[in-house]
Amino acid sequence: MINLKDPTLFRTENYINGKWVGGSGRHIEVLNPANGTLLAKTVDGNADDACDAVEAAATAFKTWSKVPAKERATYLRRWCELILENADDLGMLMTAEQGKPLAEAIGEVNYGAGFIEFYAEECKRVMGDIIPTVANDRRLQVYKQPVGVVGCITPWNFPNAMITRKAAPAMAAGCTVVIKPDAGTPLSALALCELAERAGIPAGVINVVVGSDAQAIGEVLTQHKKISKFTFTGSTAVGKILMAQCASTVKKVSLELGGNAPFIVFDDADIEEAVTHCVSTKFRNCGQTCVCTNRIFVHEAVAAEFTAKLQHSIAALKVADGFEEGAEIGPLINTQALEKMDALMADALDKGAKVLLGGARHKLGQSFFQPTLLNNISDSMRLANEEIFGPIAAVQTFTTEGEVVEKANATEYGLAAYFFTRDIGRVMRVSEDLEYGIVCSNSGVFSTEVAPFGGWKQSGIGSEGGKEGIADFYETKFHSLGGV
Ligand code: NAP
Repeated sequence: MINLKDPTLFRTENYINGKWVGGSGRHIEVLNPANGTLLAKTVDGNADDACDAVEAAATAFKTWSKVPAKERATYLRRWCELILENADDLGMLMTAEQGKPLAEAIGEVNYGAGFIEFYAEECKRVMGDIIPTVANDRRLQVYKQPVGVVGCITPWNFPNAMITRKAAPAMAAGCTVVIKPDAGTPLSALALCELAERAGIPAGVINVVVGSDAQAIGEVLTQHKKISKFTFTGSTAVGKILMAQCASTVKKVSLELGGNAPFIVFDDADIEEAVTHCVSTKFRNCGQTCVCTNRIFVHEAVAAEFTAKLQHSIAALKVADGFEEGAEIGPLINTQALEKMDALMADALDKGAKVLLGGARHKLGQSFFQPTLLNNISDSMRLANEEIFGPIAAVQTFTTEGEVVEKANATEYGLAAYFFTRDIGRVMRVSEDLEYGIVCSNSGVFSTEVAPFGGWKQSGIGSEGGKEGIADFYETKFHSLGGV
């Protein structure tokens, strides 16, 4: 059991039309990835539940969309305050169901609340236009109006923030939402609904349907005629399927998909800083984030120094159950993720990679894997091309700026990229030449609700965060007024 200060945040039913709904009697078992223990049996919702939620959201849209932005902002601010007041409990739920260290989980709760705070403010500043007329008896106006009901599907690696990053701008804009969280991490999503209810957010404005049949629920959210926009965070492979499904009703689509982030260290870099940020970007959430460092490119002149210091820092990381004091690396999400690490290691070793640290399952068992450092990496290895999504750092070397930029761009992904150099001219050249939606120089820290987060190429469509993150939840209407 999870020892919450407020046990009523522990919800296991769907939240539809402002009510907790039990469903058909089938259940999903939510397991703790650190030890396999059963945390909860939640309802196992289905396509009918998703349809009920869409109908509720469509009805609620009629009134919510007419509530003045300033009033919607008041509801959202109250929701944000309740989330912050309950951050410790929300963090506990997340660590239990997802595995990330508790401090990291509470950090995500605060980050997630930031989107609600930001969009409560931003929705008051979404303006239309008055266009200089082309005829004296006409006036030309442009309105921004909420798009309608929004379908959302979210992943397990950020069970809180990936929901608020979608729901907050949507609700702030006057839309209503139906969310399907990952079946492995539903408790964080349901607790957010409990707090939305306490904040007085009207019935039907936010709905959550938990279910193991993602395909069936996904078909409702991508094809239902009463849904106007669909937004997804998850893998590129699933994103492509869902985008195709949305075509049948021409929904507006936003996608936040996979990444393959390069981390480039030039020969004039501050090596200590580069090592610190390489560790934080590579090993955050046990390597399971879409913006995790995936390919490390180090200039040959500093490769020996950088790799030795990186090895030292990785060796100091504390691997433990996320609830243990000082834990820095928790478990992988499940045994399939562990098996993927085994397969990536076998492929890399077969093709000549050298293990400097780790390389195998961790003695803690369950789905723990050792923080790992490899070098002698070649282009043909799977981990030089695929999203690793685990605690394996793989170092390659390069000689020239042109060569490394070309290698960094040689991927179908384009989400986040990192590089370290003290040369200001190179900072400008490389930041312009990297084909990524987020480019981070001389730091690995960038996530904030006030700036746009989104991928190029097959990493996605659209942005979340910043003023861009609310724009897609509005339709543009041109009103041509005659007879003046
Ligand atoms: P995933 O397998 O694509 O799952 C994501 C969500 O889609 C889950 O809720 C899943 O449900 C659902 N889903 C799976 N198949 C579906 C289908 N056929 N129809 C409808 N829904 C379906 O991704 P994941 O492994 O959970 O998440 C990791 C991926 O997300 C990585 O690639 C990561 O890079 C990406 N990600 C991207 C961002 C970003 O902002 N760009 C942020 C975080 C994560 P169930 O699991 O319940 O079946």
